[in-house]
Amino acid sequence: MRFSSLGSGSKGNGLLVEAGETTILLDCGFGLTECRNRLARLGKSPESLSAIVVTHEHADHMGGVARLAKRYAIPVYLTYGSYSAAASQFEGCSVNWIMSDSPVAVNDLQLLPYAVPHDAREPVQFVFSDGSYRLGVLTDTGSITAHICEHLTACDALVLECNHDLEMLRAGRYPVSLKRRVSGAHGHLDNQTAASLLQRIDSSRLQHVVAAHLSQENNRRELAVMALATALGCAEEWIGVAEQEEGLGWRELKSA
Ligand SMILES: [Zn+2]
Ligand SMILES: [Zn+2]
Repeated sequence: MRFSSLGSGSKGNGLLVEAGETTILLDCGFGLTECRNRLARLGKSPESLSAIVVTHEHADHMGGVARLAKRYAIPVYLTYGSYSAAASQFEGCSVNWIMSDSPVAVNDLQLLPYAVPHDAREPVQFVFSDGSYRLGVLTDTGSITAHICEHLTACDALVLECNHDLEMLRAGRYPVSLKRRVSGAHGHLDNQTAASLLQRIDSSRLQHVVAAHLSQENNRRELAVMALATALGCAEEWIGVAEQEEGLGWRELKSA
């Protein structure tokens, strides 16, 4: 099982998860050409995608989904809430409903959607498994709940939102209302809160930790990396970052 990122941040997200012959694209906030180019960078094409899975309807996650799905006849998996936010876009798509805490199988991959507090209609995040390893993904959540911890404990890899540094957000040029939204309980995770999650769960199996969804305005790569490395007591080089432009190269899950 392996994963990589097409790009991560408020200008567009896309995460690839692969096991055996199955390749899933989690979210697509990129236009068709951009998406094709970013897939090609990782040695993939739209034709090789088994499914597109959606976390929630915000444009940086769902903006490119319907067009890609229609053009290449790729099935889409999403909650009814996410679907209902843009139902007409999905005319002609093969749509599959998912519900939080109800596992879904897509060929060689098992997906477990779980609910998160975020300002969308029915947002979920996911744990992926190939039967041997578990990859936990958490972006776009305003806070850490016991429910989130239950799902992410003892994962073999984590992709974890480090949206902002609280001080940078506070001192930054966002209007007060937007600062409140971003740092609110249904907004986005700051570096320290993301780091605190690592201390609340069993991290003993982790082979990869990747910081994601970094704000280009209110965060710096070094701050996110330092926060996560400090929480885990590991070297900073060990923490990966999924960047907005460069994304993240393939990371493999394997036995030691
Ligand atoms: Zn987002
Ligand atoms: Zn969002």
